[in-house]
Amino acid sequence: MSYMVLARKWRPKTFSEVVGQQHVLRALINGLDQDRLHHAFLFSGTRGVGKTTLARILAKSLNCEQGVSSTPCGECSSCQEVDAGRFVDLIEVDAASRTKVDDTRELLDNVQYAPSRGRYKVYLIDEVHMLSTSSFNALLKTLEEPPSHVKFLFATTDPQKLPVTILSRCLQFNLRRLELTQISGHLAYILEQEKVKFDATALTELAHAADGSMRDALSLLDQAISFGAGNVSNDHVHQMLGSIKQQQLHSILSALLNHDGKNLLEQSQQLSSQGRDFNVALDALLALLQRIATLQMVPDIDLADEEQHQQLKMFAQQFDPETIQLLYQIVLHGKRDLPYAADPKSGFDMTLLRMLCFQPTKFAANTDESIQQDNPLSIKPMASQSIINTSPPIKTEAPIAAIDKPVMADSRPLSSPIDGSSPVLSTDNWTQTIASFKLSALARQLADNCAFIKLANNKIFLSLTEELGHLATPKAQERLELALQQHLNLDISIVLTQGDHHQNNSPTLAIERAEQASIKQQSAAESIHNDPAVNAIKQAFGARIIESSIKPISNKED
Ligand SMILES: [Zn+2]
Repeated sequence: MSYMVLARKWRPKTFSEVVGQQHVLRALINGLDQDRLHHAFLFSGTRGVGKTTLARILAKSLNCEQGVSSTPCGECSSCQEVDAGRFVDLIEVDAASRTKVDDTRELLDNVQYAPSRGRYKVYLIDEVHMLSTSSFNALLKTLEEPPSHVKFLFATTDPQKLPVTILSRCLQFNLRRLELTQISGHLAYILEQEKVKFDATALTELAHAADGSMRDALSLLDQAISFGAGNVSNDHVHQMLGSIKQQQLHSILSALLNHDGKNLLEQSQQLSSQGRDFNVALDALLALLQRIATLQMVPDIDLADEEQHQQLKMFAQQFDPETIQLLYQIVLHGKRDLPYAADPKSGFDMTLLRMLCFQPTKFAANTDESIQQDNPLSIKPMASQSIINTSPPIKTEAPIAAIDKPVMADSRPLSSPIDGSSPVLSTDNWTQTIASFKLSALARQLADNCAFIKLANNKIFLSLTEELGHLATPKAQERLELALQQHLNLDISIVLTQGDHHQNNSPTLAIERAEQASIKQQSAAESIHNDPAVNAIKQAFGARIIESSIKPISNKED
């Protein structure tokens, strides 16, 4: 049995088999069912979207022996002859090969004669825009006064080239490029019918390459089937299209996340040794980043491919949205600059390294200190426009002047007071003393917010503001009491007094820390604003400092 190419074998024979183009189908079906059809139709649209297919189904609908309807029987001899391409009253002309006026005349001379078999004589003129001016004039005469037994179906990829006089006499339908999912879904349907094994992602890949054309998709599918000896797998399709495996792109993003420059260049080397086109690789990276950005903004969007969806979701969480936008811009620039690179691989390598440079470091969450001490200093471009028009925006870390942290007293020995006496506790050393205690979280909150009043008769009098009264839980008091007993080596108890203010404005550790933090913040801000390097960056790139991103750096010697 000879092999029939899929595009021919699976050419739709009825309107219900047509994929997409619903807007055109509805108009044609209504017209047919109400038997109110125009005498000239123009189907425009890019290659392989179904222009001539629709025209042929229309010709069949008009000539079916069962009567004019949108559902031709497919059984009668007229239907079968149209399907087989030998119906005498369907005159198909490829205008690209018949542009001379004589050809058109010869064609139109026969218009006046009644159809020999069917109800209507149907002229299907493909690539009608290729006709010469004089041919158009000959055609126009017929279009102005068409015999009632004639229908003209024109198809064109370039309707702009048609004279307005022709356009105005046609009912025009603009066929759309098919969507990715429409194509991949149809390929899957065909392969199931043909009992050919396939990977779903391979079909997505083919659909991508077909770029909206079902005919191209089917012809690629034919190639893929023979390339893979009857099995349409990811590997075969990748090899056939010379495309980049999603897994390789994922490895590149993972290497970026891990700040692993060595691995990044290994990925590039691998693409090179597989003979991949780096322009295609950059396109694939762009598509991937675009999908991640979409997921970040519209998390519940359906990406059609479950397996990939999970992986992309992970990236969407691991990268922040700003970074993905930035990486996208870098890849876009990399693609633009690729022709100027010494060779494509070095251009690609530079793009990867630039992505690595501008991929901000993730810092660990803040420490248990109440002051946040991690230190990314981020400077962002003023507007997204500056990302596009200038150069990659800047994310940089700059060291800033070190600022003293409060000096914490060392813990004193607990049960061996110096020269037999107890350590002294006073307003002056209260905050230092309690800072050295190891306390549970609740007791720590209580201790930090209490001010020392006095120590008398084995009682420690502390004050707590009323608004923080909730911190004085029995458990927290008990823990603090125990810590103080151990520190002083005395059997003391705590007496808490609550009021609007602390007595004598005695300090608490919390207040001291807030003051220190404020001073550090102010100083950090000053040193950033006065930093010549930062100012140079601001000037060169139109960047501005985001005040809330300025954080004092921790002083590790403390
Ligand atoms: Zn029929």
